[in-house]
Amino acid sequence: MTSILKKREIPGPESKRLLEKAALIEPPCSADQLPIVWEHAEGSRVWDVDGNEYLDITSGVLVTNVGHCHPRMVSQIQEQISRLDNSYSFRTEQRINAAELIVDATPDNLTQVFMLTTGAEATETALRVARLYNGKQEVLSFQGAFHGKTYGAMSVAGNISTKKGFGCGVPGTITAPYPYCYRCFYDKIYPDCDLYCLKILDRIIEAESRDDLGCVIIEPYQGAAGFIFPPEGYLKKLETWVRDRDLIFIVDEVQASFGRTGKMFMIEWEDVRPHLLALGKGMGSSLPASAVVGEEKLFKAVGTSGLSSTWGGNPVSSSAVIAVFEIIEQERLLENCIKVGIHLITGLNDLKEKYGVLGDVRGKGLVIGLEFVDTENNPAPKLTNQIVYAAAERGLMLGKLGLYGNVIRVAPPLVFTEEEADLCIEILDMAINSVLE
Ligand code: PLP
Repeated sequence: MTSILKKREIPGPESKRLLEKAALIEPPCSADQLPIVWEHAEGSRVWDVDGNEYLDITSGVLVTNVGHCHPRMVSQIQEQISRLDNSYSFRTEQRINAAELIVDATPDNLTQVFMLTTGAEATETALRVARLYNGKQEVLSFQGAFHGKTYGAMSVAGNISTKKGFGCGVPGTITAPYPYCYRCFYDKIYPDCDLYCLKILDRIIEAESRDDLGCVIIEPYQGAAGFIFPPEGYLKKLETWVRDRDLIFIVDEVQASFGRTGKMFMIEWEDVRPHLLALGKGMGSSLPASAVVGEEKLFKAVGTSGLSSTWGGNPVSSSAVIAVFEIIEQERLLENCIKVGIHLITGLNDLKEKYGVLGDVRGKGLVIGLEFVDTENNPAPKLTNQIVYAAAERGLMLGKLGLYGNVIRVAPPLVFTEEEADLCIEILDMAINSVLE
């Protein structure tokens, strides 16, 4: 712990040397959060190339749910890679077993799994399957949504920064406001609003649709938009709305799944039953793995050879998926996620009481958004940056995001302890204090 709190220079000399080298050969297009080069990691800790230790509150980008380099994960991957590394579409026991674990853990109506590699591949595939099933072209998605950066996924995004400058995309997307209660699009207040944003969907469709709406795609909480959680009951009511109109309901749990909110899948909190469920990120924890889980009748519409992916479901990734299930169960990570999440949110709410600049604390399990604002409640992205930097100087590795760049994401691995949560709050307190001084 003490080595974490030691004030350090960012970037350190070795990070600086490597970043200068990177600047010559790597384009600056990916979101560099902090000028720190990672060297190794373990559990909820990361060390940089200068030997500095950090408490990792990012889990990569909500990926290493079972903790960095979990020994069981490492040995299962090593064992598998020494025996069989790729098989493309030839089936393997690892893929079949991983698929069975997913089907058993998801709602009864979802009986088949198609394995892929990335989250964007999963959302694109879900859209392709929905289109093949009912032949309809239009998709309803939500403002602020992020479903990946490939063209199809980008086209249904409601997060404008994903699309700016990239042209028209795939036609047929209609977007509606997401229930972002802290900054309600309709300036209403929950619960007095009576979920106006849901009630108005029919009018939006009436005004926008060419009578060709086929499916609805939604994140159960919005990730890239700033960890925005809909009010309780919204998702189930949306499911009813979708089913009443005979549409296909796609839930994008690429980020929310594999224990992140304290249930294996976030849809479990309200017994939501989509027709198609997109998974990714924490699914492989250490290795790239994603999937679309769906109803048999939908996949039937695709026929044989209608979908493929070079790396999808390869035996090494599949063995990582199996390890994720085993570790989550054996280490009771869902219980830990809820317990430590409540502890963390309590401490973060205390910080909200102390600092007016912390406008909103929201989340579930170990995915918590901290929205920073100015005195008029306007987004404060510059201040947010300064806090992230000041925290890193004190050993706390945070990420930031949000529609306005003013949300700090608190999303440590699910092995996070209450002691680590206390340390996180202590450092964040010091960081905010130092920036405001
Ligand atoms: N969908 C959601 C909800 C995500 O958060 C992300 C990534 O952040 C994606 C899809 C895209 O995943 P990938 O970057 O693996 O393509």
